[in-house]
Amino acid sequence: MSQLQRIAIAPSQLEQQQILLTKEQQHYLVRVLRLREGDRFIAMDGKGKSWLAQLAGEQAQVLELLTVETELPVTITLMVALPKGNGFDEVVRCCTELGVTCIAPVLSDRTLLHPSSQKLERWRRIAAEAAEQSERSFVPTILEPVTFSTSLSSVIGHLSLANSQQYICVARGDFPHLKDCLEHKGQETIVIATGPEGGWTKQEIENAIAVGFQPVSLGRRILRAVTAPVVALSLITAACEV
Ligand code: SAM
Repeated sequence: MSQLQRIAIAPSQLEQQQILLTKEQQHYLVRVLRLREGDRFIAMDGKGKSWLAQLAGEQAQVLELLTVETELPVTITLMVALPKGNGFDEVVRCCTELGVTCIAPVLSDRTLLHPSSQKLERWRRIAAEAAEQSERSFVPTILEPVTFSTSLSSVIGHLSLANSQQYICVARGDFPHLKDCLEHKGQETIVIATGPEGGWTKQEIENAIAVGFQPVSLGRRILRAVTAPVVALSLITAACEV
């Protein structure tokens, strides 16, 4: 099954074992991937289900439901202070490949970028493409950018704190290394926050600690705002993947 091409579909496209392909999907399958009538591919709904499908004109026939086991045994929410320029594209792409569940872009006190509304659509498209490429069965949720304090309250409000670990990455200071803090006991939720180019303010770190976040280090070097989330995700996957 590994050689087959994958595309993400919306759950509503599936009707009675037929996938109603959009114009873009038809173009991608036929013109870009050069699939022909009867060729097989994998369709994933981004919510945990994948099917083996066969191209049939403007539709595809579902042949069988597939079992895909590429997801991590933990739920990871990544809160990222938006980096400058297009740096967030790379964060979305790499962290999707690494297995993130939800990405919450945040506007912190020192965030320089204030994204346009088209950016969110672009990030969601990048997440879908990266999920296809990395053969995941889930497409991560990308939330609308909000201020760090709003994000803290809404993320914490949705957590069962008994089964969750929250970390804020702080570049300077005498904090324990993330790798020494992670505890993998089962199906927990991990929330991890990384700051902008100028770093978190003291107040932001205190606010996070006040709602249960533990400040952690990612090592002795100062990582770029784009590198830090990728390193944090890599450490989590290394600790939790069995
Ligand atoms: N300008 C800040 C300074 O000099 O302290 C550095 C900010 S760093 C470029 C951007 C973000 O990446 C930080 O806010 C932090 O969340 C994360 N980060 C970078 N290096 C880190 C490290 N060694 N340990 C923990 N977090 C780190």
